[in-house]
Amino acid sequence: MEAVDLYDKAWAGIRSGFEADRLAHAYVIVGAPRGRGLHFAEAFLKLLFCTAGEKPCNECVACRQMEAHQHVDTLWIEPQSKSRQILAEDVRGLIQRISQTSFEGGWKAGVILCADCLNPSSENALLKTLEEPPPRTILLLVTESPQSLLPTIISRCQKLVLAEKKSGAMDEVWGAPLMGILRELPPANGLGASRLASRLKELFDTVKAGIADAVDEDLDQTDETLDESKLKGILEARTNARLKEVQADVFREMLDWHRDVLMLASGIDSGGLVFPKELDVLAGQAQRQTQRSALYAIQVIEGMARRLDRNIPDLQIFDEAFRQLVRR
Ligand SMILES: [Zn+2]
Repeated sequence: MEAVDLYDKAWAGIRSGFEADRLAHAYVIVGAPRGRGLHFAEAFLKLLFCTAGEKPCNECVACRQMEAHQHVDTLWIEPQSKSRQILAEDVRGLIQRISQTSFEGGWKAGVILCADCLNPSSENALLKTLEEPPPRTILLLVTESPQSLLPTIISRCQKLVLAEKKSGAMDEVWGAPLMGILRELPPANGLGASRLASRLKELFDTVKAGIADAVDEDLDQTDETLDESKLKGILEARTNARLKEVQADVFREMLDWHRDVLMLASGIDSGGLVFPKELDVLAGQAQRQTQRSALYAIQVIEGMARRLDRNIPDLQIFDEAFRQLVRR
């Protein structure tokens, strides 16, 4: 199975990096922070700290302390339960810990679970350390949504993708048209930008019509007797709520696409692509970009997603954004 292959491939990479003493200082582990991602991080750290000959043995004191997240040279942080945010003070605490001399005279490690919950100030706190990492330290950022991290963080970490996106991740209604749009980016000129914007608008219109039909059907089956205008209000509210979810999914895919382009434009190893099957197209797009312009494209997509929440016509937002992406 594909998913197993990626996990094994990432593991083999870490193992050979460890054996050759050529590990990176920081990794983004793309996987569930309560599942595969967590498991991978634990295995990684056991490999570093294990005292047995065959590492990781899962039995020595170090391995067991690692399993219990109680190893003295490793600190784990995760979001506060109330705010769902990882606070800057927690990040600073982690950095301080890994900057000290290790108790056991070897590695020091910090793990950030659900790294997508870093807020802007905690991301900034982290950035400084990523720029100048203390020697013999490893930072692991575990997240399922690497696209939520600052590009400047991503570009300073090695990315390990543990599972290929489920084939059903892209909806069958909008997956294919979206890929069609992504493959044609960046537009060659203003006219090209407008055409792509219209296609994106069309995509969302189709999605919205489909959602409205489904919601309508749901409402028909409720026993409540509601008057016409009230029914219409509910229909609209529910349709818009579901549309927002789809929009978020679509923009997430667009960001992932552009982060792949950024990785390739930055000359980073293409092993961690979100769209490995599109490597040829992505490489072609990356060739026409600098790291800077690829980063800019990501900002444009993020800005496009943010503007949708305001009262600006969708088509105008898409049009203006795609025009900013026109090749110069
Ligand atoms: Zn061990």
